[in-house]
Amino acid sequence: MKTLYVKFVAITIGIMLLSSIIAFLLSNAYYQQKLKPYNDEKITKMAQSIAAYTDDHPDVDLPEYLNSISSIGYQMFLIDKAGDETFYGAPFRVNSLPASTRAQVLDGHVYHGILHFPQALFITGFFANELKNTIGVPLTHNGKQYALFIRPDIKLLFNEMHLLFAWLLGLTILLSILLVLFGTKYLVKPISTLTHATKSLAEGDFNVKLAVNRRDELGELSRSFLGMARKLEQMDEMRKEFISNISHDIQSPLSNIKGYTNLLENESLSVEDRRQYTSIINDEIKRLSTMTKQLLLLASLDRNDQMLEKKPFNVGQQIKELVRNYQYLVSEKGIMLSYSLPNVEIIGDPSLLHTVWDNLLTNAIKYNKQDGSIDISIDEKETEGGGAILVTFKDTGIGLNQAETERIFDRFYRADAARTRTIEGTGLGLSIVQTILHLHHGRVSVESQYGEGTAFIVELPAK
Ligand code: ADP
Repeated sequence: MKTLYVKFVAITIGIMLLSSIIAFLLSNAYYQQKLKPYNDEKITKMAQSIAAYTDDHPDVDLPEYLNSISSIGYQMFLIDKAGDETFYGAPFRVNSLPASTRAQVLDGHVYHGILHFPQALFITGFFANELKNTIGVPLTHNGKQYALFIRPDIKLLFNEMHLLFAWLLGLTILLSILLVLFGTKYLVKPISTLTHATKSLAEGDFNVKLAVNRRDELGELSRSFLGMARKLEQMDEMRKEFISNISHDIQSPLSNIKGYTNLLENESLSVEDRRQYTSIINDEIKRLSTMTKQLLLLASLDRNDQMLEKKPFNVGQQIKELVRNYQYLVSEKGIMLSYSLPNVEIIGDPSLLHTVWDNLLTNAIKYNKQDGSIDISIDEKETEGGGAILVTFKDTGIGLNQAETERIFDRFYRADAARTRTIEGTGLGLSIVQTILHLHHGRVSVESQYGEGTAFIVELPAK
């Protein structure tokens, strides 16, 4: 965590340094290419006008005149043919000047020391306070020949304005470093919070709190993280509930079996009782066996490793065969079963879809009333995704209330115990139905009227 912060700060300051070096090099190049000739020319003109003035005004006092000019920001060096040297203004740091140069200017030539000052990478010639870095012009005063070397006094030129700019630059750098230090803290903080949240999540504490009102990528990340935490929490809840349900559902048939085997040990039991107890034990064993099979199926569906063996087949045909198998049970309960099952081909796993119809049909029989009715139909429907088929199982059974319809697809959920106690079941059938349909990109919905009947509608993508 810390390292990200340090890295960010280091990179930003590094970028600032690098860009100022590049900016410095570029402006130096700009000085060398553009400003230096311009500067040279400007000072040459200025020096020449000084020379012209002294030439035109023999009565002016030369040292006084030059002194007054130097006081407004120039350094000057004056020599005459006799070798007399006078400096005006601030002293030069380096005073050497070749004799040939002096002689040339005394002979009437102009010396462009500023233009020809050697280029240095990091020091712009502008700042080099050397006698060589001047403009030399011949000057005549009262008929006497002189050479005048002149350059602007940088120190004097660095007046308040320049100081102001220097402060500005210094403050900008300082402030940007400070802001980077604090700004990065602010940027990196949500990541630290996230790490913290991840740790508490890993320890099983799902109640993580994150600021999700940021509008940037980190806000987005926090939001998805919270979403993930909620999902994990739900899954954890489901897992706990599942284990408690399953333990209960295994425990109750087992204790029933134990109770009745104890009773069976009684020698004086009548044949009738004995038969009844054995039958109860058998039923409980059957229930346990059904439940384990259903759990295994659900587990393999959940793991998704039950590879769907999809192929085209006729659903209408499949359901008709199923109905035939249950004919006995249907007539036993006096149920009227009607259907409209056209030959419709779909692509799917026939064995898994068989489980779906089987569950829906047995429910429609189990939760029906004496002499009730069941109607099964297949309809085709136009959808955006290229059509679907609707398979409806409608019964006139005990029905479900609103709260129950919302929960019947939950694992182990069985509606109102008082009504269904006598009816065999595990509460797993409909969750299996739902899972299988999900794997087929289909869905199941329910419409029910308490005490009137229920309809389950399965929607599957058409072939
Ligand atoms: P099971 O039938 O083994 O109890 P299911 O998952 O198939 O489990 O069904 C869950 C619950 O939904 C049932 O216990 C029952 O209360 C309710 N149910 C399912 N089908 C019907 C139906 N056709 N009519 C009324 N209630 C139903």
